[in-house]
Amino acid sequence: MIKKFLTFSIALLSLTSLEAMSQGKNKVIAHRGAWKNTGVTENTIGALEHAIKLGCYGSEFDVHMSADSVVFVHHDHAFKGTHIEKTNAKELSQIKLPDGEFMPTLEAYLKAGVKQKKTRLILEIKTSSISKERSLALATKCVELVKKMKAEKITDYIAFDFDVCLKVKELAPKAHVEYLNGDKTPAEIKAAGLSGIDYHYNVLKKNENYISEIRDLKLTTNVWTVNDESMMKWFLEKNVNYITTNEPELLLKISK
Ligand code: MG
Repeated sequence: MIKKFLTFSIALLSLTSLEAMSQGKNKVIAHRGAWKNTGVTENTIGALEHAIKLGCYGSEFDVHMSADSVVFVHHDHAFKGTHIEKTNAKELSQIKLPDGEFMPTLEAYLKAGVKQKKTRLILEIKTSSISKERSLALATKCVELVKKMKAEKITDYIAFDFDVCLKVKELAPKAHVEYLNGDKTPAEIKAAGLSGIDYHYNVLKKNENYISEIRDLKLTTNVWTVNDESMMKWFLEKNVNYITTNEPELLLKISK
């Protein structure tokens, strides 16, 4: 009788802690790092370090490839008229960003990221403005660099180009790859072998069913870019896996 009671209590306890774990799970992905409230420039190693210090689940960043095939971390295709894809690495390395940091290479960024294991690196492979071939070449370079820097275990990939997502999955079958563009159904994502969706909040507000469908398929839902407190609460209630935001401090506070 006592034994039965004990078994029941342990089962109940583990169930309760499992529920608590999933509810209190850190879902916060800092969009381009934690820059908005910290005074550093977005997409810099400084912004990554602030996201790590805050204890975010992940820190998102964007990459492009120089004319001579070096990968740089930056959001836009160009910086003050210098087009990344049409410029060599030597010249790009001289670019000073608003907070005084140099535009980081992906290699330097990963080197900073692998110093810790808590915050994941959410690598967005930007679509080339020149050609599909360059988008796929960038995807290949990213997977190679992540392997070289021993960052595979803490790196996830996102991309707007579906073929880029497929390329990453082909080269790194174990990698977590989410599609950004919003035009594929959960069933299509599953059929393609991808890990989940990372859609704009309007897409998920219009297609609320995607969140439960994705969960049933054992894939993940990430949503961008949620900066408004009431919308954060809406997505927390829907229990999406991750929320990408420019306000990681606020989201961390309300999701505790
Ligand atoms: Mg991005």
